[in-house]
Amino acid sequence: MPIEEVFIGIGSNLTNPVSIVQDAIVCLGKITSSKLINCSSLYQSEPVSDIVQDDYVNAVVAIETSLQPTFLLLELQAIEHAFYRQRDPSLKAAPRTLDLDIVLYANRIIDDSHLTIPHPEMHNRLFVLKPLFEIAGEIYIPGLGSLSYLIDNAPAIDMHIISEPVILASGPGVVPG
Ligand code: ATP
Ligand code: CA
Ligand code: CA
Repeated sequence: MPIEEVFIGIGSNLTNPVSIVQDAIVCLGKITSSKLINCSSLYQSEPVSDIVQDDYVNAVVAIETSLQPTFLLLELQAIEHAFYRQRDPSLKAAPRTLDLDIVLYANRIIDDSHLTIPHPEMHNRLFVLKPLFEIAGEIYIPGLGSLSYLIDNAPAIDMHIISEPVILASGPGVVPG
């Protein structure tokens, strides 16, 4: 099984979002057949939504995984579930305890009914692009262009770093081979 590098976006804006994000990062470090390899600072960002809600805490992590994208998405949804996320399909951009999105999966382009990679809104979201740049540096985003180009052209939002990267927890998730 090939081992691929994947970037995952994390967002939380209900009770104790800083500790939710920190705990979520620990959970991401325990995903089967995967290894947490990098983690951005935690950022506070204003919500991009018509619904009045608190600021978000955001981060991006990098993992190495031998899970295929669909199976990785299922693992992310199980972690969201563990944090009691309620999903209301009628409410777009609603507040949430925890949101985990696959931002990039190696250099793959995927567009099917349940999964779009690169994440279809990443170019509009500085709260994804900036933490991604912090850990990935200047990379090329398949179909979109360089990361610094996307950062320069994304809509401005209020955001700032609120804490240093979480110390990488070495969980039992080990990439075979
Ligand atoms: P947004 O996609 O704008 O960030 P959201 O994260 O609030 O919105 P969710 O309700 O968490 O949306 O997810 C809706 C569906 O999006 C999921 O059930 C999943 O199948 C699908 N999806 C498509 N592409 C991705 C991706 N790259 N990462 C995570 N989920 C994705
Ligand atoms: Ca999302
Ligand atoms: Ca999501």
